[in-house]
Amino acid sequence: MDTLLIDTLLSPWTLSLAGLCIGSFLNVVIHRLPLMLERGWKLDSADLLGVKVDVPAEITLSAPRSRCTSCGHRIAWHENIPVLSYLRLGGKCSACKARISPRYPAFEIVTALLFAGLAWRFGAHLSTLAWCGFAAVLVALAGIDWDTTLLPDSLTLPLLWAGLIASALGLTVPLSAAVWGAVAGYLSLWSVYWLFKLATGKEGMGHGDFKLLAALGAWLGVSMVLPVVLGASVIGAVVGIGMKLASTLREGRYVPFGPFLAGSGLAVLFIGGPTILDWLGWA
Ligand SMILES: [Zn+2]
Repeated sequence: MDTLLIDTLLSPWTLSLAGLCIGSFLNVVIHRLPLMLERGWKLDSADLLGVKVDVPAEITLSAPRSRCTSCGHRIAWHENIPVLSYLRLGGKCSACKARISPRYPAFEIVTALLFAGLAWRFGAHLSTLAWCGFAAVLVALAGIDWDTTLLPDSLTLPLLWAGLIASALGLTVPLSAAVWGAVAGYLSLWSVYWLFKLATGKEGMGHGDFKLLAALGAWLGVSMVLPVVLGASVIGAVVGIGMKLASTLREGRYVPFGPFLAGSGLAVLFIGGPTILDWLGWA
């Protein structure tokens, strides 16, 4: 392809526009994927137990069309333009005036900024697109884990494979760094989980966290596993204590680790593992 065309397609401006649209799609994934999984699990369990259960109507990522969660008003295409529609509607449903969460435009803006940052960091190269895909899946995983304390296998496992494939295609780290990164990522949290469980009898984190860190190791390489875990632990502890103090943490709920792993993975990608270790006093 023409280099000028590639430069234009992969420029920070074009990719930030793509980021706004993909961010809008990620809002749908974050909202619907847990509902789709829960419905599937209920049906599978009922089938296994030979009982009947009531399940909601089937939804997919594309159907039915989005509706206002308060009044059921069907959202028209012109009410669904990333960020702009939110601003034009003043953050309210056009039919019932119920407040629309500022989280929706926030996720769109975060995705756009990540894509623009990746274009700026990696330039007009195919690897930029690979990193944009990586960032988009991390945004979805962070949102889903925050809402439901679940990290679906249907996102973590493809992310892990994609990391190994991107490495084999020469887009990211050397293949041996990617493979050992996946192994170290999985085993490090798996060991912490078992030590914690043997010591306290409680489960400190979910298996999804091991798979997410394995995926981060596959993308970033084995040497980045330690900075990712340390960064996530420090930010997670600060946010967890902050939420306890502000009493925003509901009784019996815990702060999921996934959003901090995802955030730390992106920080390591942009800032570099050694700098993060240096900030944390480990270097
Ligand atoms: Zn409404």
